[in-house]
Amino acid sequence: MVESIRVLIWNEFRHERQQEKVRSVYPDGLHQAIGGQIAAPDLSIAYATLDEPEHGLTEERLAQTDVLLWWGHCAHAEVQDEIVERVQRRVLAGMGLIVLHSGHFAKIFKKLMGTDCSLLWRHCAEKERVWTVSPGHPIAKDVPESFVIPHSEMYGEHFGIPQDGEIIFISWYEGGNVFRSGVSFLRGAGRIFYFAPGHETYPIYYDPVVSRIIRNAVRWAAPSHFLAPRTTHTPVAVEEIRSSAVN
Ligand code: ZN
Repeated sequence: MVESIRVLIWNEFRHERQQEKVRSVYPDGLHQAIGGQIAAPDLSIAYATLDEPEHGLTEERLAQTDVLLWWGHCAHAEVQDEIVERVQRRVLAGMGLIVLHSGHFAKIFKKLMGTDCSLLWRHCAEKERVWTVSPGHPIAKDVPESFVIPHSEMYGEHFGIPQDGEIIFISWYEGGNVFRSGVSFLRGAGRIFYFAPGHETYPIYYDPVVSRIIRNAVRWAAPSHFLAPRTTHTPVAVEEIRSSAVN
């Protein structure tokens, strides 16, 4: 039997508890909705939220995680730096990270990108058309050339991400803006995918194409193995060093 991918879906889980409008769309939280939608026999899905001890991201939990999904918005500042560093270490060792929507401003994403990750935004329920610009990428498998999200929050360029990302999706919005809405990065041994669609008051995570993209991203980001911590001082060389004998 093939081992399943250990997926941990992390959600800030504040809007759903505080705003009836959000709760009406995602009654059990965005994390549960996303998990239900991407469920597949090869994925073993667990959940963690901000208000759990250590934000649900203990060393033990991360050690059992192959791919972490991140949804945050209003409480990015409440995520402890120590835990951000812990997640970063795990990503650099090989854990996949899928950063969703307003997670563009999450501490972990900014830390891994090294840029401000800012963007234009507008909230008026306009239409978004997502274009697949890298159709051969595993994340674009079985994704149409383009698809429409009837009501979305506009995220627009310029998006303050590094230039080393591979652009997989570009969005066009009714109001004229465009955005690199699906971009992948490599950091250390870890694979990272940022995906923009997914505002908390719209049922975007129930869209089967959006779910397919996230599921594809999880499979793409799953590591074949993790790097072990290593000792960097290496006084014994693998070849005999003769030149140092003259000193
Ligand atoms: Zn939003």
